[in-house]
Amino acid sequence: MAWMDIMSQKQFENFTASSLYCDKCKAAMPVRERLLLVLPDKEIFDYLCTGCAASVGQREVTAGDKIMAQAAHGRRDPALSLLP
Ligand SMILES: [Zn+2]
Repeated sequence: MAWMDIMSQKQFENFTASSLYCDKCKAAMPVRERLLLVLPDKEIFDYLCTGCAASVGQREVTAGDKIMAQAAHGRRDPALSLLP
């Protein structure tokens, strides 16, 4: 259905909005967030450099983190603290 396509595109834009420092590229590079693992109590995301496809960071989102993020929305993503 067309409206489903629009929704997933918007979600993808959010995923590509951040950048992290990449050791190989020696620069802050846009990253792709990939869902690596889904566990009953948490999800693990992998951040891949869009320049060289190296993994530049990982993030764990627990059920508790989700509640915290909702309570203090606007809080910076822990993975983004790697930025220079
Ligand atoms: Zn890179």
